[in-house]
Amino acid sequence: MLNFINETNQIPQIADVDVLVCGAGPAGLGASIMAARLGASVMLVESQGCLGGIATAGMMSHWGDRSSSIVMKEIWDLAYEKSKDIGWAQENGCGKDAIYHDIQKIVLEEMVSKENIKVLYYTLVCKAVVENGEIVGVIVENKSGRGFIRAKRVIDSTGDGDVAASAGVPYFKGRESDGRMQPCTIMFNVGGVDFERAVFPPSFETTVETEKGELQALAKKLLPFPAGHVLLYKQPIPNTVCCNMTNAIEIDGTDGESLTKGVFTCRSQIIPIIKFLREYVPGYENCWLMSSASLIGIRETRHFEGYETLSKDDILQAKYYDNWVVKRAWFNFDVHNLTGASLDKTGIQHGWKQNGEYTIPYGCLLPKNVEGLLLSGRNISGSHLAHSNFRIMSVCIAIGEAAGVASAISIKQNVKLSQVDVKEIQKYMGK
Ligand SMILES: Cc1cc2nc3c(=O)[nH]c(=O)nc-3n(C[C@H](O)[C@H](O)[C@H](O)COP(=O)(O)OP(=O)(O)OC[C@H]3O[C@@H](n4cnc5c(N)ncnc54)[C@H](O)[C@@H]3O)c2cc1C
Repeated sequence: MLNFINETNQIPQIADVDVLVCGAGPAGLGASIMAARLGASVMLVESQGCLGGIATAGMMSHWGDRSSSIVMKEIWDLAYEKSKDIGWAQENGCGKDAIYHDIQKIVLEEMVSKENIKVLYYTLVCKAVVENGEIVGVIVENKSGRGFIRAKRVIDSTGDGDVAASAGVPYFKGRESDGRMQPCTIMFNVGGVDFERAVFPPSFETTVETEKGELQALAKKLLPFPAGHVLLYKQPIPNTVCCNMTNAIEIDGTDGESLTKGVFTCRSQIIPIIKFLREYVPGYENCWLMSSASLIGIRETRHFEGYETLSKDDILQAKYYDNWVVKRAWFNFDVHNLTGASLDKTGIQHGWKQNGEYTIPYGCLLPKNVEGLLLSGRNISGSHLAHSNFRIMSVCIAIGEAAGVASAISIKQNVKLSQVDVKEIQKYMGK
């Protein structure tokens, strides 16, 4: 039998803002910066101690593919400018999309400070407060205790949609047929790589023949299950490579115990992976562990019901929505094996023919049942397969930008988020 305690306490209001952005990953950054640029007072609440989400705390290798985002290019340029004199290894041949994690953390703090965005770190958004079908703020918890943040508009950029779930927006998790979610990964960097000889397979479908055998096949055979693939990316730091190779399956990123299990599984694979790299992968014979991510990389959790829902076919056919808020979105479908290593049975990474860049309509950001709230980032309304494509950071940040613009306009014009004229949002979006 389950036991409960009843909690009755008064929660102080700690802030009153125009736009509250929950979660400071790519989507939260895009949202807060654009809302502030349109004159809104903005607060950005983040459970980690840095900005960037998976890009920084999750130690992502690079900003993948493309979209109409404005803010992403600004981040790239600023991070590159700041690091080129203090250690951006030009000889590694990385593009500006590569992430020098600690430099990017500094740059992001400078960017939000310039826009007068109030940031609250080490703060978990615990509960949405909804009155008469409209969200009026959230309850947060940090070292100061619990606090209520009142806001005219709330943007959910938590990746998992913690605010939307708490507000009562309907959702399902994972794949439609069985609820299985994509595997999770702890990213890590290795140093000591010989770049003259090293290989950098960027996808599961890249095979590399060596004297000892083909690398993807060797990894599948030799790494501890469910690890079993080789994905390696150049970093802009001398002799350093970012490894996307740990793998935990059947993990629910919205469940505390399951998340912890995912971390233990991924961390336990790091040393065997490094031994494998040293033994089998050219150029990695003397590599060593530099650092691993403090934030586990969760690929997929909740999919919410929105006014519109992006489908696989929208992306394959490059559908043009007149009410677009994101344009020029592009990535391949990326469904990992939900029950093992590398690719799922359905998970062709590059084989599906896409007709071109796609758009995302405003309705995918508008959740069913709750006013005053926008979905933003990987938690917008979309199918499991569509999500495997739009979850790329370059698309998530553009979605965030749209959420920030829509929120600021709706406040200025004193209309509900569902009534904002999309043509007005489009004026401020990248083309
Ligand atoms: C292992 C892995 C590899 C990937 N590889 C790439 C790649 O190479 N290139 C690429 O472009 N994309 C890649 N992706 C996809 C991409 O990183 C994510 O889909 C993207 O970061 C999603 O952006 P987001 O802003 O929606 O969420 P996130 O980046 O997850 O940010 C969410 C933020 O919200 C915070 N948060 C969560 N819950 C709460 C709460 N309740 N209260 C307060 N704060 C909260 C988190 O700490 C985090 O900072 C990868 C993802 C994973 C997991």
